[in-house]
Amino acid sequence: MTETLGETQQNDVFGYIDRYSDIFVDQLRKLCRQPSVSAQNLGLDEAAQLVQKLLSGTGFENELFHPTKGPAVIFAELKSKTGGKTLVLYNHYDVQPADPVELWTNPPFSAVLENGRVCARGASDNKGNIVSRLMAINAFLKARGDVPVNLKWVIEGEEEIGSPHFSEFIEKYKTRLSGDAAIWEFGGLDYDDRPLVTLGLKGMLYIEFKVQTALKDSHSARAAVVENPAWRLVRMLDTIQDEYGRILIEGWNDDVKPFTAEELESIRQIPLEEHSIRNELGIKNFLYGLTGFEFKKAFYGNPTANIAGIWSGYTGPGHKTVLPSVAQAKMDFRLVPNQDPVKLAGKLKQHLERHDFGDIELTLQAENPAARTPINASIAKIAAKAGKEVFHKESVTLVTSAASGPMHYFTNTLGLPTVAIGCNHPQSNTHAPNENQRIDVFIQASKWVARVMDDFGKNG
Ligand SMILES: [Zn+2]
Repeated sequence: MTETLGETQQNDVFGYIDRYSDIFVDQLRKLCRQPSVSAQNLGLDEAAQLVQKLLSGTGFENELFHPTKGPAVIFAELKSKTGGKTLVLYNHYDVQPADPVELWTNPPFSAVLENGRVCARGASDNKGNIVSRLMAINAFLKARGDVPVNLKWVIEGEEEIGSPHFSEFIEKYKTRLSGDAAIWEFGGLDYDDRPLVTLGLKGMLYIEFKVQTALKDSHSARAAVVENPAWRLVRMLDTIQDEYGRILIEGWNDDVKPFTAEELESIRQIPLEEHSIRNELGIKNFLYGLTGFEFKKAFYGNPTANIAGIWSGYTGPGHKTVLPSVAQAKMDFRLVPNQDPVKLAGKLKQHLERHDFGDIELTLQAENPAARTPINASIAKIAAKAGKEVFHKESVTLVTSAASGPMHYFTNTLGLPTVAIGCNHPQSNTHAPNENQRIDVFIQASKWVARVMDDFGKNG
């Protein structure tokens, strides 16, 4: 990693990005004006066609994969004339619904320019990242006539609804997706405009429980003699986690891979602002008095058992003396490497039986394992170094995000060390009204990705 991009060549690529960024801002706006809401099956084919056009205009060979259901996955390839290393990029062309539309200052698909930002649903998540990367690749081709690495690019259309058919694509394209490392869809700057390099995601097991104790609701005068399913449900839930947050399901943590010493050191360095989270939520303290290093270690490293929803009986205004017949709850369990969600669903079922709750219905609604790239992977080090060079601030390496996503297909199934870097910023309002993409970050992140491609081609 001693050799870096020569000043003149760097200026060529970076200079192209600076000179022609307006063209790419226009391309981003055009892409944003095409709604592509996967949850509503809205405009997905049209968006895929637009992205394909941008890819072939740049020089990518590309094709569509049609899963059994749902929109197409785009697979595109661009080879470097000099061969060498291969980077796989992952993005998505679908966006979240724009609702509640009345809270937007501008219509969500108008893509107006305001205060140096493109304002639109999808401007940041994830269309900004698609076009920012495209700008970097165009810059290499125009400034040098070649890209520094072979590129394979996967752009799917169902990320925002949990990628329900993405495994079909991975299964079919597994061999064609060989490479040396991958760049994930999101990433960007933190509150202090420091570049963030994220190396993993937690996994997820999403379960719905249903307890039924009678054929129908009845008068609550019968409460002395007829079982209430809501009591049964809360007693069952109480066996899952204790008051200290320890998950009590037998064998739940058996496969948990602890942080390495190097990962722990990196977690210690993460500038996580406890007070801003407390202020935002209006809370005095975190659970169990967690603070400092212990707080960060728990946040990034602990499996969780969260009750996401719970309902039964009468919940409307006033009072109704009812004895319900059904009680339900939804739980999301966040997982860490190497927990296997399917195996854990089995352990949860055994746990219910062992505690005499075998009658409680359990439905698995979603599952995916965690993903984590080793902190000493060359792509991780290159991404952090390039971030510092472009943004002139020390990069923050996040061993993992506390959120979840389908990164495991890349890290676990394809065996690709994967980093999440990109043009997002904390005021992007992703998934919320007034989503926007800062144009300065869009441009700088393009240079960041360019620098990573170049350094990885040489030293990866
Ligand atoms: Zn999203």
